[in-house]
Amino acid sequence: MKKIKQSKIHIISLGCSKNLIDSEVMGGLLNKSGLQMIDRNDSADIVIVNTCAFINPAKEESLEEILTLAAEKKKGNRQFKLVVAGCLAQRYGKELSAQIPEVDLFIGTGEVGNIVRHINKLDEIKSRRAVIISKPDFLMTSQHPRILTPTMASAYLKISDGCSNCCSYCVIPSLRGRARSRTPKDILREAQMLAKKGIKEIIIIGQDTTAYGRDLKSRPKLAILLKDMAQIQGIKWIRLLYAHPAHITTDVMEAIATNEKICRYIDLPIQHIDDTILSAMNRKVAGVKIKDIIAQARQIIPDLALRTSLIVGFPGETSKRFEKLMDFVRETKFDHLGVFIYSREEGTDAAQLKSQIPEKEKERRRDLIMTEQAAISHAINTGLIGSIQEVLIEEKSDRQDFDFVGRCRRQAPEIDGITYVKGTHTKIGSIVKYKITAADDYDLFGEMVGRH
Ligand code: SF4
Repeated sequence: MKKIKQSKIHIISLGCSKNLIDSEVMGGLLNKSGLQMIDRNDSADIVIVNTCAFINPAKEESLEEILTLAAEKKKGNRQFKLVVAGCLAQRYGKELSAQIPEVDLFIGTGEVGNIVRHINKLDEIKSRRAVIISKPDFLMTSQHPRILTPTMASAYLKISDGCSNCCSYCVIPSLRGRARSRTPKDILREAQMLAKKGIKEIIIIGQDTTAYGRDLKSRPKLAILLKDMAQIQGIKWIRLLYAHPAHITTDVMEAIATNEKICRYIDLPIQHIDDTILSAMNRKVAGVKIKDIIAQARQIIPDLALRTSLIVGFPGETSKRFEKLMDFVRETKFDHLGVFIYSREEGTDAAQLKSQIPEKEKERRRDLIMTEQAAISHAINTGLIGSIQEVLIEEKSDRQDFDFVGRCRRQAPEIDGITYVKGTHTKIGSIVKYKITAADDYDLFGEMVGRH
């Protein structure tokens, strides 16, 4: 086994964009300390799996990845150290260390900033099964280096970490700690650094971006942060994700409406519309307020692309309450919509609730909503045929009839559809205007009309 100083390290990042930033920061810190980061798992001397433990499918995916690597280690075909970081380690590190002895070290979410120290000490760990779990209070700053995917022209920017909302179904506050915001100065400094690296799109994230600044003495405002970010040269698009319906304010909507660089796009996870369910979820917002917020956003921001996510099968979701949700989806016609099946998470208040819904029924409800949404999305996309859209070109197309794949202002990465375009004279990372010529349920298709 190589000395740590000469080791090649690979990070596997699972879960959400917030976890991805932690992986990028760990990679940046390790790289800065002189250790070599590689993007291949099979030739790495140290593999770090940055895990997710939000809901059951995410836990299963993380566990599967760890078990595959543990089995490889057991076979002895190659030697490497295995480190498990992130939310799964924070939540189950102690239990897992007893069950998977192939893992050399478990580190929790509070240890991101200490990754260099932990990796350098890997050789000193006498027995495997070391577990380091501290208070989850890490908050990155612009001083933390990040390793970005080199070909990408967009980057996430985490303006806060943790959450103080305590939704009854969610384990995030216990895994990531209470909400804590970065200062506007530090966020803008990072945005400037990203612009200098050639990033054109900044995607603002946090567990609840609209709670930004509430924990700071100076009470900075999200709307002002957005406007200041829009002044940065080189940044072309700014996109806001994870807005909470109980916290989004008119000034944020106005900032979106009046700044050319801020995409007319809001991700507003509402989870449900029935008041009994919203109250049992502890969402602190009633159905009528959600409806008002949506009407107001659509009135203030013309051409708004509205995304939401829902949870179906929450305890107590009777057929009638589910029908109410279905009707709301039909009436509201969200541009993009994702549905989670309620996951009964130990340690949460909702897990104690009676009237849990059978898994099969939860799946049926999810499928019903997704079928409805496919038709809505198809109609909205078809309505865009003939329009001119700016597209951020991201990669070559795997379809023979199109040259590149990108996203227009209406589409966020990973969660929304994509735009296929024709025209060989373009560059990955550029923003080009296309005329939309066709559409399907989730994707758009376009031909070139100009470049800037
Ligand atoms: S807002 Fe609710 S669902 Fe979102 S992270 Fe916070 S507690 Fe979890």
